[in-house]
Amino acid sequence: MSFSTLGLSDEIVRATTERGYTTPTPIQMQAIPAVLAGGDLLAGAQTGTGKTAGFTLPILHLLSANKSAASGINKNAPIGRSPIRSLILTPTRELAAQVEESVQAYGKYLKLNSMTIFGGVGMTPQVRQLRSRVDILVATPGRLLDHVQQGTVDLSRVEILVLDEADRMLDMGFIRDIRRILALLPKQRQNLLFSATFSPEIKAFASSLLNQPTLIEM
Ligand code: AMP
Repeated sequence: MSFSTLGLSDEIVRATTERGYTTPTPIQMQAIPAVLAGGDLLAGAQTGTGKTAGFTLPILHLLSANKSAASGINKNAPIGRSPIRSLILTPTRELAAQVEESVQAYGKYLKLNSMTIFGGVGMTPQVRQLRSRVDILVATPGRLLDHVQQGTVDLSRVEILVLDEADRMLDMGFIRDIRRILALLPKQRQNLLFSATFSPEIKAFASSLLNQPTLIEM
């Protein structure tokens, strides 16, 4: 099994080879085809399993091929700030930075732009960067809502949503923030939820969010 047999483009496969990956990890073997197929995903995966590439690689493929399930909708939305096409929510700034570093590395041969926003640093540089084109936004929930309130981010055209380490986000009390963010997204979109554990709370949240998801348990 290789990254190209999973259906990823040559540009993406080349970037993974340069990163030193030869074989997809078990979660990647299951998650990549499922995400490429366009459906929702519920994955139980710990850090260290290769879960980050499990969602970033197929997202890069879908957005670069313009093939995500929701692409093409809302074509008449006003042009102004750049529409975010994929939103990846993480519990911490460290994880956000790590995920974005992966997006940059795997997407180096593609014409897609990504950025990270998290709290604890000034808003102004983030606002400036949000004025340029951003296809993939990796964010922590609280700071993302600050931008929503200031009108500096447009979430109305998100095609693919990822909740990474969803259990930690719930444990950290982000549920209300996440629900407020979800209300701003288009209804027609692909949802991917990654969680290391499945408490009754996370199960209830997942079933309210996901539409007939593919289940992956590592
Ligand atoms: P993650 O679980 O996403 O935090 O990834 C854990 C580590 O595994 C990271 O350092 C990745 O760079 C690395 N990794 C991810 N996928 C592969 C792969 N297919 N082959 C080798 N290393 C990988």
